[in-house]
Amino acid sequence: MTERSSVVDLRSDTVTQPTPAMREAMMAAPLGDDVFGTDPSVNALQEKIAALLGFEAAMFVPTGTQSNLCAILSHCGRGDEYIVGQQAHCYRWEGGGAAVFGSVQPQPLDHAPDGTLPLAQIEAAIKPDDAHFARTRLLALENTLGGKLLPFEYVQAATDLAQRKGLQRHLDGARLFNAATAQAARNKRSDVRAEARRIAQCFDSVSVCFSKGLGAPIGSALVGSREFIARAHRIRKMAGGGMRQAGLLAAAASHALDHHVDRLADDHALAQRLAQGLEGIEGLVVEAPDTNIVFVDLTGAAQARSAELVASLNSQGILATGLYRLRFVTHLDVDAAGVDRAVAAIRAFFKP
Ligand SMILES: *Cc1c(COP(=O)(O)O)cnc(C)c1O
Repeated sequence: MTERSSVVDLRSDTVTQPTPAMREAMMAAPLGDDVFGTDPSVNALQEKIAALLGFEAAMFVPTGTQSNLCAILSHCGRGDEYIVGQQAHCYRWEGGGAAVFGSVQPQPLDHAPDGTLPLAQIEAAIKPDDAHFARTRLLALENTLGGKLLPFEYVQAATDLAQRKGLQRHLDGARLFNAATAQAARNKRSDVRAEARRIAQCFDSVSVCFSKGLGAPIGSALVGSREFIARAHRIRKMAGGGMRQAGLLAAAASHALDHHVDRLADDHALAQRLAQGLEGIEGLVVEAPDTNIVFVDLTGAAQARSAELVASLNSQGILATGLYRLRFVTHLDVDAAGVDRAVAAIRAFFKP
């Protein structure tokens, strides 16, 4: 076997390798030049994701970071602000891009334990029209957030509030299909795509990643109105995101939408298996996962040994991120045997 197959890589769902079928789809893709708007595979992907989420238009971008940047800069101008969570990717993890490139100020809010931004806090953060203040233009939510599914009633209430207050609404749905999978299971519904559409329809724009659990090597899409996407297109160009024979990548994303949405439930089941496997180890506090991400807090004596634990797992080819709060992410390239190996290694570490 190759070296890679002996590694259980639980660092992120971004590490997936394109499957043989995905590679075939990429090789077979008709190509054009997407800067001229004539790459048939890019156009097909954009039409597919826009229709799937119920929007007029979509734009293919290399990364989720660029997708969020294009969205924020399309919704907001210089001196405007967006309300966002302290832990949100488009505030905390994107190098401050909206401020750097767009002179758009974030107004971060603390999350409640369930990941939501309390409605009263959102409302209190919306500034009146007064020269002292930045103009509050946008509410940006993230679902899933750290693997947590935001309750749908909350998503509806928060986006309704934003709309009543005249704000635009953006969803960083990097893992929207994981959210939809969990929401479908919770509501005993079977159509994950319909659930994704229900969530997306609460927003004016949505960003989704193909390179996470969906298993494509690269790529995200931003969806919105035709007019919004036209503005976003200009910003993508300025950000250097105009790609040429990008159909090669879009074909991978299309393949992922066709073949890797319904299997996300498998990743969620493996996350449950991992979390359950780690129950009852002294000093480990395991967060029950909603989706494909398991957080494990190390406390007490276990905390003192956390660096040693991570190093020990690494030496056995089991990769995770974090130190006192470990993160394990399941995905296309992890199976039950891999999860069981991780569980056994952690158990053995604490009880040799
Ligand atoms: C991964 C991720 C992104 C974008 O990541 P890129 O690495 O830029 O593609 C954005 N938001 C969330 C919530 C993410 O998890």
